[in-house]
Amino acid sequence: MNTNTSRPLILCIVFFMLSSALIAREPITPVEKYGQLRIEGTTILGENNEVVQLAGMSFFWSQWIGKYYNASCVDWLVNDWKCSVVRAAMAVAPDGYSTKPERERRKVEKVVDEAIKQGIYVVIDFHEHRAENFVEEAKTFFSAMAQKYGNYPNVIYEIYNEPLKVSWNKVVKPYSEEVIKTIRQYDPDNIIVCGTPNWSQDVDEAALDPIEGSNIAYALHFYAGTHKEWLIEKADKAIEKGLCLFVTEYGTTEANGDGAVYEKEIRMWYDWMDKNHISHCNWSIADKKESSAVLVPGASRKGGWSEKQIKPSGKLVQAELLKKHEEMFK
Ligand code: MG
Repeated sequence: MNTNTSRPLILCIVFFMLSSALIAREPITPVEKYGQLRIEGTTILGENNEVVQLAGMSFFWSQWIGKYYNASCVDWLVNDWKCSVVRAAMAVAPDGYSTKPERERRKVEKVVDEAIKQGIYVVIDFHEHRAENFVEEAKTFFSAMAQKYGNYPNVIYEIYNEPLKVSWNKVVKPYSEEVIKTIRQYDPDNIIVCGTPNWSQDVDEAALDPIEGSNIAYALHFYAGTHKEWLIEKADKAIEKGLCLFVTEYGTTEANGDGAVYEKEIRMWYDWMDKNHISHCNWSIADKKESSAVLVPGASRKGGWSEKQIKPSGKLVQAELLKKHEEMFK
């Protein structure tokens, strides 16, 4: 065989073997699998039109239990809890971003940077009950976030955690439109989740007068011990009207974050969210003395928690997250 003619042939074979090996490699992270998310109708879709349901954990109010906002903790939540999403709940008031903007933003950035590194999605939450009083702060904050992270498929913006009993049309919707306009100057496409009145429960009210624009979802929050079938009925109405819902926060307990773990009720909610492909984040990664906080007091800020350090709610949620992860990559 003439070596001059066989060399290009060998090179071609090696090239095709290498490229097919690369193509055949299974995605190993949620962001590798789904990439840039978008909303069509009531559903979140991935780059290849796969239906996406994310599942993970929310951190606690950043100004009170900010110690878990660090890279090691995110790594642990990815590797040991199999979160496909985490939520940085950046407190605004009291003593949060409204008075210590640099300090609180840095906590969020630590979580977001590591989520990007680990290939999971991350919700940047403006954790506030009266965000209409902090419109300028919200615009400054989300403008910085969109400029810094708008090109990463990982990031989801949650612009208003839980409005109180205020009007959708007169208060929450105008606030949302203004903040969305700011984000869209820098990031045309990542998902934005809007809060809904009455602690993000009145999604049916938002459904009567939704916000124009693409890739907009609406927050639905529930606590299994307090919010029962009646809230599912409200949410079903919103879905029927075409809203895409995102459970950016839920608890297995009562609405005050404490009390029993409502196992039967949380199963009902999980089934309902699965049926409707609704993504969810559990409240919360914290070592507070309340049953919704998944860790016992003093559990390491860096992760590595033993079984003994995880409270009953945490064990239930972790099992659900492992199951969701298996389904995602089966
Ligand atoms: Mg973008």
